[in-house]
Amino acid sequence: MPELPDVQVFREYLDATALHKEVRSVSVSRERDILEGVSRSRLTDELVGASLLETRRHGKYMFARLSPGGWLVLHFGMTGYLEFAEDKDAPEHWRLVLRFGENERLAYVCQRLLGRVSYTDDPADFVEAQGLGPDALSDELDRERFDEDVAGRRGMAKSTLMNQAVIAGIGNIYSDEVLFHARVHPERKLRDLDDGERSKLYREMRRVLRKAIECRAQPDRMPRSWITPCRGKEGECSACGEELKTLKVNGRTAYICPNRQKK
Ligand SMILES: [Zn+2]
Repeated sequence: MPELPDVQVFREYLDATALHKEVRSVSVSRERDILEGVSRSRLTDELVGASLLETRRHGKYMFARLSPGGWLVLHFGMTGYLEFAEDKDAPEHWRLVLRFGENERLAYVCQRLLGRVSYTDDPADFVEAQGLGPDALSDELDRERFDEDVAGRRGMAKSTLMNQAVIAGIGNIYSDEVLFHARVHPERKLRDLDDGERSKLYREMRRVLRKAIECRAQPDRMPRSWITPCRGKEGECSACGEELKTLKVNGRTAYICPNRQKK
């Protein structure tokens, strides 16, 4: 599922391929499943004749500013991604296609229909209306705010990191990676961490997310000391050799090293 690093990579991909090109036509499929808060005709009106000028990201949401004003909003759900190409039919499971001159097109693909396409006049208003917490990599989320908004909470560490209303951008995979490096068991309550542990958690959260972006969010490019590449197979902890274990935390599968992460 696309989390903060994946969406950042999609954003950089859009920046590199589709900016400053006039949109000639727009196609939408499965609009009832995919469009949120905007009709197909409104979205088409806003997009045709416009170009995308810049992108932003908040948590797992991407925003693309349109030349006349307003922003296209993309959320990638479980399986979403972008594909830019020339002279090609849109890939299977496309939900939105923007066609530019020169036979180029940008497709938003989302097989499982859990992604969303929206439109907003202002990303800050959108973020507020969605009730999202601060972006996990933003300047806004400094150590002080982290202690107040995140680390002071009663919930379990993994669930709190994944709660988009508390902190935006982290999902099942990166919560495990962050907790592994911070040596925090996913079921511990953040409130019970001492100051040193909180400090380490904050540092590792920022470091892991940045490093994941550097690795283009691809498990096979990630450091060998990480656990994300071991998901779904028998893996061992690179630090101690212990077999990685899984457990269910609020219905989600967590991967841990039982030596490093104790309750
Ligand atoms: Zn270990």
